[in-house]
Amino acid sequence: NSQLNSAYNFENYIEGDCNRLARSAGFAVANKPGTTSFNPLMVYGGVGLGKTHLVQAIGNHIKNSDPNKFVLYVSSEKFVNQFIESVRTNNVQDFANFYLLVDILIIDDVQFLSGKDKTQEMFFHIFNHLHQSGKQIVMTSDCPPRDLKGLEERLLSRFKWGLTADLQSPDFETRMAIIQKKMQSDGIDIPDNVVEYLAYSVDTNVRELEGVLISLIAQSSLNRKEIDLELAKQALKHIIEDVETEVNLDFIQKTVAEYFQVSLDSLKAKTRKKEIVTARQVAMYFAKEFTSHSLKSIGYHFGGRDHSTVIHSVQTVSDLIDTDKKFKVSIQELQKKFKSKAG
Ligand code: ADP
Ligand code: MG
Repeated sequence: NSQLNSAYNFENYIEGDCNRLARSAGFAVANKPGTTSFNPLMVYGGVGLGKTHLVQAIGNHIKNSDPNKFVLYVSSEKFVNQFIESVRTNNVQDFANFYLLVDILIIDDVQFLSGKDKTQEMFFHIFNHLHQSGKQIVMTSDCPPRDLKGLEERLLSRFKWGLTADLQSPDFETRMAIIQKKMQSDGIDIPDNVVEYLAYSVDTNVRELEGVLISLIAQSSLNRKEIDLELAKQALKHIIEDVETEVNLDFIQKTVAEYFQVSLDSLKAKTRKKEIVTARQVAMYFAKEFTSHSLKSIGYHFGGRDHSTVIHSVQTVSDLIDTDKKFKVSIQELQKKFKSKAG
């Protein structure tokens, strides 16, 4: 059993600026395992950005082109547990022998090996043997190798023999493409304005984006209602109210509106009344500081303004902080609220 999940392939792994290098290196490795200079291939990136999907796709591709190859996918957690079990039952040699037979070793989330010295020693041994025999090794980690604390130096130096490639948060266009692909493969119709709305609103990681889509599909069948913008907004609320304790756009807009005693709607409206413009600019300023939303996304959430308006707002607020003492105090008061909530 190779532990591969055939649902993860290259076909449904959307390419974008955020993953281009990792994806193409992965594809090269999948076509010529062990014979490219990408050995080991190390893919790193934050939670939910597609590490497991990509390395599983590599494994599946190899398995499909050559069923005789022994492709093994293993999470580092499982690797550690198997190793500990083998120590306990006096089967360390069997454990090692099994891994030495592998043609393509895919080991996920190696940050989990941190601090586990005996397991690392075993992995070092397996790594050397496989690498010397021209076998392919593929690894993932939640951070770049240089930040992997608690991993032996000699292991880290081997990780650098091949190629290290990162996965970034998906950009807007990639998020659009991912949503379209997922819905299409589920055979579900989703209007373009809903795709756009979701791609703007969920810009953290792909797993969260999928969570929103699942909730949306559920809402749609529960209410026997076609997917539309209204339903999408509801679905998003469910997710966001559940998980958001941090400082998000809603919280910033509410807090700033209250502070300046303007209505929440006015922040998103066209009005150019001075006190509203100021509140709006301040809210944008904090959105930039406290959230990971892009300028484009911030603009969208403030009544569909464009990113240059956001840049201008941030600049205006920064200038005012430097020149207007009273204004500076207001900003500091607000900042305190956000900081204490952000923890
Ligand atoms: P990680 O291992 O980095 O935490 P996963 O590989 O589990 O992330 O990805 C989370 C979810 O997002 C999976 O369901 C995966 O299929 C999906 N996903 C991530 N990146 C992409 C992409 N580029 N195209 C399509 N789906 C993706
Ligand atoms: Mg993973």
